[in-house]
Amino acid sequence: MILILAYDGLEYNYVGEFNLKGLMQKDFGKTDISEFSEPRTMVLWSSFLAGKNLEKRILKLKNIWKFKLKPKETFFKHFKKWKAIDVPGLTHKEEEHELERKLLKMYFEENLSIKEYDKIVFEHHKENKEEFFKSLEEDYEIIMAYFPLADLIGHLSFGLKSKMRLVYKELESIAKKVEADFKLIISDHGMKAVGRYGDHSNYGFWSTNKKLGTKNPKITDFATLILNFSK
Ligand SMILES: [Zn+2]
Repeated sequence: MILILAYDGLEYNYVGEFNLKGLMQKDFGKTDISEFSEPRTMVLWSSFLAGKNLEKRILKLKNIWKFKLKPKETFFKHFKKWKAIDVPGLTHKEEEHELERKLLKMYFEENLSIKEYDKIVFEHHKENKEEFFKSLEEDYEIIMAYFPLADLIGHLSFGLKSKMRLVYKELESIAKKVEADFKLIISDHGMKAVGRYGDHSNYGFWSTNKKLGTKNPKITDFATLILNFSK
């Protein structure tokens, strides 16, 4: 079974600083996303799925969060039984993502506390986590599970290291609980601190339970790499 843990906004530097071996696995590094004009979540995950840069196509849309690929446009087309949980650009839960963007805005308009914001973010996380562990009981060839926790908490708290350490440890604990023939942990972009807040950084994170065989992969290289590891 192939397992892809898609951790939005997981930052390479924090994984190292917090020394989280469960996130580093056997081989890890930064992904190259320099071909994109900005590190946009929807653009990066969609391009990861398609194995090519979809920035132009997506930015034509009025609301990029409405963008959804057909499975046959993604690497899932090579598999008979696959599952993609909340994956941006394919199966993302539109209402929940929309709510989170709205809550973020509300915080900056002083209509919401960070505590209230975090509570909803963690509820979304718990839901995806349950769905993921349930999917392991079925016989999928490939599972991709998306967790926006590090990004969503990071936007309002990335500068608070002790808080972020707990978030990263939670993501590590999910990774440690599951074994797979090929396990890929990947982020779309990382984050950098802006005071207590966080903004997207210009590279992503990857790690694998086997030697990847390449040092600085582009995020669009993984569609082919995943297929190679499935053989
Ligand atoms: Zn993101």
